[in-house]
Amino acid sequence: MATLSVCDNPACAVTVEEKRDICPKCGGPMRRVGDSPARGIVLLITGLFLLGAGGALSLFLGPMMLNPDPARFTGSPAQGRLFFSLFVLVALMGLAGLGNGIHLMRTGQQSGLLKIVTLALGAILVLMAVYIIVAMPKSA
Ligand SMILES: [Zn+2]
Repeated sequence: MATLSVCDNPACAVTVEEKRDICPKCGGPMRRVGDSPARGIVLLITGLFLLGAGGALSLFLGPMMLNPDPARFTGSPAQGRLFFSLFVLVALMGLAGLGNGIHLMRTGQQSGLLKIVTLALGAILVLMAVYIIVAMPKSA
């Protein structure tokens, strides 16, 4: 994503897709809008959290989900695999966010590829969650 600069003069308010200090139209000062290092830290913390949560769930619940013990997990093996892939997806999303945060702090810009990966993983996660809620019969 390109860095945007916006003219500080409200009567002009020109936006250009580059780093500029002086407005090309009125010559006034411009301020930069876009990805700030603070967002990198937010991405990093969110990524760490998702990675930790998804990773812990995969590690601790994964064996049970992949080899369901009827006494502890009432779902079918297919449900177990579905839940397990949900946890792995959460962890992968965290990993992508983590990488993007580091990339943003090092370069001042988000990685386009990692952003797409995060969005794609998020979309799959939402679809799977909707599938579980809507399509899956209650096992109880
Ligand atoms: Zn201007």
